[in-house]
Amino acid sequence: MERSRKIIRTSLIGIAVNAVLVAAKLAVGLLSGSIAVLLDAVNNLGDALSSVITIIGTKLAGRAPDKKHPYGYGRIEYLTSVVISVIVLTAGITSLKESLKSALHPQAASYSAGVLLVIGIAVAAKLVCGQYIKSVGKQIHAQTLVASGSDSVFDAMLSLGTLAAAGISVIWGISLEGILGILISAVILKAGVEMLLETLNSIIGIRADRELSEALKAKVNSYDGVLGAYDLALHNYGPSEIIGSVHVEVEDSMTAREIHSLTRRIAMEVYTAFGIALTVGIYASNTSDSRASELKKDLEQIVGRYPEILQMHGFYARVDEKMATFDLVMDFKADGAQVRERVLNELRGKYPDWNFSIILDSDYSD
Ligand SMILES: [Zn+2]
Repeated sequence: MERSRKIIRTSLIGIAVNAVLVAAKLAVGLLSGSIAVLLDAVNNLGDALSSVITIIGTKLAGRAPDKKHPYGYGRIEYLTSVVISVIVLTAGITSLKESLKSALHPQAASYSAGVLLVIGIAVAAKLVCGQYIKSVGKQIHAQTLVASGSDSVFDAMLSLGTLAAAGISVIWGISLEGILGILISAVILKAGVEMLLETLNSIIGIRADRELSEALKAKVNSYDGVLGAYDLALHNYGPSEIIGSVHVEVEDSMTAREIHSLTRRIAMEVYTAFGIALTVGIYASNTSDSRASELKKDLEQIVGRYPEILQMHGFYARVDEKMATFDLVMDFKADGAQVRERVLNELRGKYPDWNFSIILDSDYSD
């Protein structure tokens, strides 16, 4: 709730700043007859629009989960980011078109000192406002704010270009509006494409942030009785709604009652510290069996010869039944089934009367 309030407040500031700028630039543009300034006004109108969309998106994304959408509506925020990226791209294409026109047919506009002053103030306002929106967005991981903040910074650059061109036209009588405009349009288009790709990646699903997954594993590992934390997988339903699962290794002498207390504590404390609903699965570890530890050592040696195996975990041997189970975390580039077959053959060579059950794990997190 705190997060969405911040997004809405920041967006409202953006709308207010842009409304003032649109009015000032429309007036100045009409007075001076500068197409660049008028175009700039339209651009600012687009920014105000993207702030309005951010607010609507945040309101929709914040709706409480219901039976049909039990994971909530958080992913709407990604859609909002796509819409804003498209607005940025549209602004880039429009300004490229106008700049090309003005580069081919330069038109002298009459800039007065007052016009230049207004544009100068507008540049400073956009720059400060854009950086502020961006920094709040980064701080609370709101892609929509980062996108609309970046958009404002680019618009400030666009206006700065207009200002520079106006200055040059006043002093030397050369019109550079078009050429500067083309350069700035290219920067805007590049940013729009990058924003769009980043958001699309979030929708497709990306590897969890390394810092987060390492901090989570360290937290889980810090509990007495946890011998190791593996297979951490995180799924998100919007930037602030994450659910996940992890496997922990515990001694096979632990009772269900002890495991119950341990996993409950982990789940509750992880939720408090990270806001992540974590399901905890269990691997048993052999406590006192020399044959099991001998087998594990042999297995570790075999696995060590395969660079495509990133990790071996969850080893457990039931010596009386001659049965061992373990997991192999495979590099995504490797042919997992083939590597498993080779490991299995090596093991059978050494332990012909044993049965092995190997699960191939995906390399979900660092
Ligand atoms: Zn596993």
